[in-house]
Amino acid sequence: MSANLQSVQQLGDVLAAQRGAFNQEGAVSADTRKRRIQAVIDLLVDNHQALTEAMEADFGQRHQGYGLMNDVLGSLGSLKHARDHLETWLPREPRSVFSPYDQLGAEAWVQYQPKGSVGIMGTWNAPMFTLFSPLASVFAAGNRAVLKPSEITPHTAEVLAASIGDRFDPLELAVITGGVEIGQAFASQPFDHLVFTGSTPVGRDIMRRAAENLVPVTLELGGKSPVIVGPSADIAEAARRLAVAKGTNGGQICICPDTLFVPVEQRDAFIEAFTASYSALYPAASGNADMVAVVNDRHMRRIDDCLADAQEQGAEIIRCPDVEVVTGSRQRPLSIVVNPPLNSRIMQEEIFGPALVLLTYSKLEQVVDEINQGPRPLALYYFGADQREQDYVLNHTLSGGVTINDALMHAAMEDAPFGGVGASGMGHYHGRDGFVEFSHARTVFKGAPVDPRGEWGMLPPYHDQFAAVMKSQITR
Ligand code: NAD
Repeated sequence: MSANLQSVQQLGDVLAAQRGAFNQEGAVSADTRKRRIQAVIDLLVDNHQALTEAMEADFGQRHQGYGLMNDVLGSLGSLKHARDHLETWLPREPRSVFSPYDQLGAEAWVQYQPKGSVGIMGTWNAPMFTLFSPLASVFAAGNRAVLKPSEITPHTAEVLAASIGDRFDPLELAVITGGVEIGQAFASQPFDHLVFTGSTPVGRDIMRRAAENLVPVTLELGGKSPVIVGPSADIAEAARRLAVAKGTNGGQICICPDTLFVPVEQRDAFIEAFTASYSALYPAASGNADMVAVVNDRHMRRIDDCLADAQEQGAEIIRCPDVEVVTGSRQRPLSIVVNPPLNSRIMQEEIFGPALVLLTYSKLEQVVDEINQGPRPLALYYFGADQREQDYVLNHTLSGGVTINDALMHAAMEDAPFGGVGASGMGHYHGRDGFVEFSHARTVFKGAPVDPRGEWGMLPPYHDQFAAVMKSQITR
């Protein structure tokens, strides 16, 4: 059978075969793990041009340099980090044995063992990275895997499926393409672990399906990532860095700055600095080779509808660059929606495109309260120079990750966990944290050569004094 699966039936068959091969295999050596990772690295290096062109075709406009940086180099970064470090993650971890068995020669350790076969579902916004970055950790942990790319980027899915089909033994790595129905069938399989990257509403459904088979899940979800521009922030620099982050991938990033809280007295200065920076990066919208297009008409309509709704409800909208919107184009100037009402759609839904919400505030504590009333965000950003202000924000909020005085950066760390909390997800990957996530931490206790419990009167038939001896051990 090819690693490029054609039906749910084949998916079920390959999963069963992978699990059979896993059970036969026994310990998965460091060399086997590295060989699997290296085969993916080779696939990406050899096919990087075809994959980058496919992503460009899927988006309509996505600079090849950006595709190479975000998806090809991003994936290679995770894979190489895993390849080059996994040997240091494998040794068993000795653990302290309780007294008196520690003195009697008992031993204990934790062994991180592979779980078996892991399903990985990816998104369209980073159509390679959301598959290959988790795969790096999944393979480092010694597992086998099946990938399910997003149907919204069909060219990329097709090139991936063909190249994986050409190179991989389906017993180690397979791929299945398709839309919602295949996604539902995929999440219903009895994998040994399921990694889902995608939206929070779909994530709920995925978790429900996985629960039918008690499949553990890693959910890498989305939501609205807030930015606090503190009273002590350098406004011009904060605006510049946020403009860079907001333009990345056309605003279609899970940790994209979504809602900006700006001190009311800095409103005009911030907007002026932000629009100047953004317009310098993107002097034109439609036809601009550097601007990533909104992925399809459905997503463009979703964003347009949110903007129309905010405008109808009286929100001010500032566009940058200040150019005409070209009908039919999915490359749009960024819309800054200033102080929309709480019940407007743009205040409730993840924007995921070329728009942002700017809310003015007068007290930092109120901003923190407002953030805490919403779902736990995937990312939180704080800009400021005051240590007490920074500590207040960090100590009174909870989010998947944080970047201070910049945006997006924490997610690029290979050597630190990436993941959400609450509605923005569960579980983490990247580097050693990904290895641990996709391993089973198995405690092993090796008994002492001698067993003195009988001599000590601790076994039945109990001695008259047994209860009294036990009582004497109860201390504070
Ligand atoms: P999505 O939830 O629509 O789709 C994700 C995957 O699920 C795709 O493979 C898709 O085919 C499948 N799918 C879609 N609907 C399904 C259903 N009803 N049942 C089963 N499977 C289904 O997400 P998307 O639009 O591709 O991606 C955007 C979302 O992903 C945003 O919310 C973004 O924040 C989030 N995201 C999160 C991360 C992260 O690492 N946390 C990274 C990228 C994107």
